[in-house]
Amino acid sequence: NKPAKPATAECVKVMVRTRPMNQKEFDRGSTRVVQVESTTSQIQLFKPGEPEGVPRSFTFDVVYGEDSQQQAVYDECAFGLVESVLEGYNGTMFAYGQTGCGKTHTMMGPAASLDPSCSPEMQELRGIIPRAVRHIFSFIDAADKGIKFLVRCSYLEIYNENILDLLGARKEQEHLQIKEDPNKGIFVKDLTTVIVKSVPELEKMLFAGMKNRKVGETAMNKDSSRSHSIFTIYIETAEDLKDGTGKQKIKAGKLNLVDLAGSERQSKTQATGARLDEAKAINLSLSALGNVIKALVDGGSSHVPYRDSKLTRLLQDSLGGNTKTVMVAALSPADYNYDETLSTLHYANRAKSI
Ligand code: ADP
Ligand code: MG
Repeated sequence: NKPAKPATAECVKVMVRTRPMNQKEFDRGSTRVVQVESTTSQIQLFKPGEPEGVPRSFTFDVVYGEDSQQQAVYDECAFGLVESVLEGYNGTMFAYGQTGCGKTHTMMGPAASLDPSCSPEMQELRGIIPRAVRHIFSFIDAADKGIKFLVRCSYLEIYNENILDLLGARKEQEHLQIKEDPNKGIFVKDLTTVIVKSVPELEKMLFAGMKNRKVGETAMNKDSSRSHSIFTIYIETAEDLKDGTGKQKIKAGKLNLVDLAGSERQSKTQATGARLDEAKAINLSLSALGNVIKALVDGGSSHVPYRDSKLTRLLQDSLGGNTKTVMVAALSPADYNYDETLSTLHYANRAKSI
C-alpha cells in the first residue's frame, strides 16, 4: 500500500568516485587525467599528454576524489537509501566501472576491514555493505519494542546470463529461473533466503556467499570481474495499530547491493568461445541496465526495457517506481585508462536526468 509516486529523476542518484593512483602507476610514470571538483560536483577529464588542453567536463550528484573516506561516502550516498528500505521501500545500489577502479572497495572495503576484531583504523575502511548491515541492526535495536522486524538475505551471481545461488548447498552449478507471481511479483525460484537476527549472522551469510563466489571462479575458470553479484537484504516490519482494531501495519522493503562485472570493453576480435560468450553477456546486461535507468530518468517513456537482461529483470521491482537507486561509478585517475574512464563517465552521465 505504498503511495503511488512516478519514477522520477530524484529516485536515481549518480555518484562518481576516483581511486588513488597505485604503486604500479607511480612506478610506470603515469600521470593523472582526472580532476575532481567537489564544490561544483564536476569531474574533468584531460586528454593524455594534454594537461593544458580543455578538459571534458561532467557534472554528477556527488563526486569523490582520491582521498575520500568510506564514512562520508556512506553518509552521503547510502544512509538515505537504507533508511527508506527500513521504511518499506525497495532500493538498489550498484557499482559500475572498469576492473580495478574501486567497485569492491566502495561496496565492501578491503578484506582485512571485514574482520570483526580488526583495529579501529581498519574498521574505518569498511565499505557500504558492512556499514549498511550495522545501520539496519542499530535501527532495529533502537526501535519501539512494539515493532517486530524480520530480516532475511539472499546472495546470487549472474554469470553468462545464468543465475547461481551463492547461499545454497551448491548443486554443481544449478541455474535458477526467474518467475513472476501476481502476489509475489518477480522472484527467483529456489533461491536460498536466510533469516538473520544480528550483525554477525548477516555477515556470516555475506562471507559465505563471497567464498562461494570464489569457488565458482576456479570451477568455471572465471574471475569475479566477469559476473554480477546481488546481495539482497529483505526487511519486514509489523507494528500493532493503536486503534483498538488489533490490526497490524506491515511494511516490506528490500535493499539490493550490486557489484557489477567490470565494464572494460571486451575485445571482440581476440575473444573466442567461452570468453566471447562472457563478453557478450556482460555487454548485454550492462547496456540493458543503462537503458533501463535512462528510460526511468527521462520519465515519460512508457516502455522501460526490463526484460532485456536477467539483471534488469531481477531488479525490476527495485528500479523505478517507489524505489531509490544509487549508482556509484568508479574511475582510475591514470592516463593509460583514459578510454575506459571516458566510457564510464558517459555511462554515468546517461543515468542523470536531463
Ligand atoms: P574493482 O572491484 O572495481 O575491480 P577494487 O575495489 O578491487 O576494484 O579496487 C582495486 C584496488 O584499488 C584495491 O586494492 C583497492 O583497495 C584499491 N582502491 C580502490 N578504490 C580505492 C579508494 N577509493 N581508496 C583506496 N584504495 C582504493
Ligand atoms: Mg571487484
